[in-house]
Amino acid sequence: MNTPSPHAPQTGYATAATLDELRANLADIRARIDAACARAGRAPDTVRLLPVSKTVDEARIRLAYAAGCRELGENKVQEAYGKWQAMSDLQDLKWAVIGHLQTNKAKVVARFAAEFQALDSLRVAEALDRRLQDEGRALDVFVQVNTSGEASKFGLAPDAVLDFARALPAFSALRVRGLMTLALFSSDQQHVRPCFQLLRTLRDRLRQDAPSGERFQELSMGMSGDFEWAIEEGATTVRVGQAIFGSRALPDSHYWPEGASRAG
Ligand SMILES: *Cc1c(COP(=O)(O)O)cnc(C)c1O
Repeated sequence: MNTPSPHAPQTGYATAATLDELRANLADIRARIDAACARAGRAPDTVRLLPVSKTVDEARIRLAYAAGCRELGENKVQEAYGKWQAMSDLQDLKWAVIGHLQTNKAKVVARFAAEFQALDSLRVAEALDRRLQDEGRALDVFVQVNTSGEASKFGLAPDAVLDFARALPAFSALRVRGLMTLALFSSDQQHVRPCFQLLRTLRDRLRQDAPSGERFQELSMGMSGDFEWAIEEGATTVRVGQAIFGSRALPDSHYWPEGASRAG
C-alpha cells in the first residue's frame, strides 16, 4: 500500500478476499494502532480494535473469524441480526450494533447484541432496558454525541449529555461504558481533532459530575480514515471497516443520514 503519511485518509481500499489478506490488513491496522499509542505515550492494550463488517458477506466474515476476530461492529440492526443467526455456530463471536436505533427495533438488539454504541434518546434506553429485562440479559452501551455540529449526524448535542447521563442509572440492564462519536468527515486534522477532543472533555466532565460517572470510561472514536488521530486524542475503541475489509460498494448515505459523506 502506498501511504504518503501515516495520517492521510485513504479512499479506494483494496478488497480483502482471502484469509491471508485479512490477516495482513488486521496486522497492519494493529501495528498502526500500536504506533499511534507509542506517539501518545499510551500502552497498546489501552486501545481496542472493533472491526466493522457492514456489507461484508458471511464467507468473508468467517474468514475474519479464522483470522482472529471475536467481535464485529454492524451499523444496521437487521443486517447484524441476520448475520448473528447465520453464524450462531461461532459462539464466541460478539456483535456490536454501532448505528442509530429506532425504538421498535430495541427488541431485536436486546436479543442478540453484546454492545450498542449509538444510544441517544431516553425512549430507546427505556425500550432497550425493558426488552433486556424480558430476555434476562444486560447490554454494554455507549452514548453517542454529535461532536461535529452537523445537522446530518445522529447523537446528543454536547450540552445535553450531562442531563442524559443523570437519567441512565434508572436502566439497570444497561451497562454504561462511555461515549461514542463520528468526527467531521474531513482529511484535515485541524477539523477532525477538535471533535475527538470535545468527546474526551465531555467524558472527563461526566466522570466528575454525573451520578455513577465513573462508569464513563471508554471513548469510541476513530474510523478507517482518522483512527490514528483519535488514538492520539484518547480513543479507547476504534471502529475500522474499510481499511480491513476493503471499500464498500454502497454509498455511506445508505448508513448515515443524507449529507454525511466520507469525501473530504
Ligand atoms: C461504517 C462505520 C464505521 C467504520 O467506517 P470505515 O470507514 O469503514 O472504517 C465506524 N463507525 C460507524 C458508526 C460506522 O457506521
